[in-house]
Amino acid sequence: MIENLISKSVANISPSATEETSFLANKLKRQGIDIISFAQGEPDFDTPENIKKAAIEAINEGFTKYTDVPGIPELKKAVSDKFKRENGIEYEPIQILICNGGKQALYEVFRTICEERDQVLIPTPCYVSYAEQIKLTGATPIFFKTKEENNFRPTLEEVKANLTPRVKAFIINSPNNPTGSMFEKEQLKKIARLLVQRGVYMITDEVYEHLVYDGMNHVSVASLGEKEKEMSITVNSLSKTYAMTGWRVGYAAGPKEIIKAMNNLQGHATGNINSIAQKAAIEALNGTQELVRNMVKEYEKRREYMVKRLNEIEGITCQYPDGAFYTFPNVTSLYGKKYNGNIIGNDVDVAKFFLEKARVAVVPGVAFNYSGYVRFVFAKSIEEIKKGLDRVEKAIKELN
Ligand code: PMP
Repeated sequence: MIENLISKSVANISPSATEETSFLANKLKRQGIDIISFAQGEPDFDTPENIKKAAIEAINEGFTKYTDVPGIPELKKAVSDKFKRENGIEYEPIQILICNGGKQALYEVFRTICEERDQVLIPTPCYVSYAEQIKLTGATPIFFKTKEENNFRPTLEEVKANLTPRVKAFIINSPNNPTGSMFEKEQLKKIARLLVQRGVYMITDEVYEHLVYDGMNHVSVASLGEKEKEMSITVNSLSKTYAMTGWRVGYAAGPKEIIKAMNNLQGHATGNINSIAQKAAIEALNGTQELVRNMVKEYEKRREYMVKRLNEIEGITCQYPDGAFYTFPNVTSLYGKKYNGNIIGNDVDVAKFFLEKARVAVVPGVAFNYSGYVRFVFAKSIEEIKKGLDRVEKAIKELN
């Protein structure tokens, strides 16, 4: 039997719910059904021209061979300069590893520091891949729920109450996917101090750091002090900031010994990332940042529109996200309502109802370990957001 060939650890992981929803929406689209998808977490903008040009030049110059596994020196320097300039952190190039997106960086961090019996503590709602990546290492993800009334920000008390002697690492994701929630500096300081005292590593996923609104500032844990820097691994990516999801450029930075071990792992698993994408990444980091600012301004308008519209729909309440391009509205008021003989009983039913009756795709909160909510992406034009939310509003009005 072929199933017997599949290892327990791989058989044990669930498919990515966000990918599944997007897959279903795309399938319906291919059947000619007009679906508006708020499911896929990626910018709708094209990669800026200067970045594409750098890649084209790399191809024309024949920059098409293997490179050093951790990335070419110019790119590592560009990342090191970026940390200094934007985050106030001094990471030497030897403390930096260029990976195939933030996703590979995260996987390599977990694979490198986690053993069986270790636990990794994750506040929820959380990004879909953390738990599955941790399970692949043999360690155990453990969760606690943040509260909507705290704007989904983990509190010091919650972290303290959930630390066990087996917790090796804590995940910080600010701004957060799926809520957009961001740590305030003072709160982050207190939590980081506690974790340092308890010898718990901080894995800080900062892929949405540039997509922040209302003049808020993103704070990197490693910038808070020497101890915080020693006890943290920063993961970042060019995917969201530079509309480069398909290019697969991310990176990890942290203590030399950890980065070296991750480098060894990457050397045998995938080797260097695409040489052409590395050249493009240098331009993204060192070139003009004006297009990023323009994209953020545009996201801010869309956020305003989407949150306002969602709150006008009866049965939906929605907080303003501090950052990223997600809203995470509460849909529990729709529970118990009926359509076509079906009773809505949970967030998966809500997502199904939106897809079937409104032809709108969203991801149910359960995918992020947090039921009662659904995630809408606002990396879409205002026209599309309007069209989609008009449909949701109409479908909800028809419920009984
Ligand atoms: N972390 C978070 C919180 C994300 O939302 C994503 C992508 N959706 C990633 C990491 C990985 O992104 P990438 O691999 O494209 O850098």
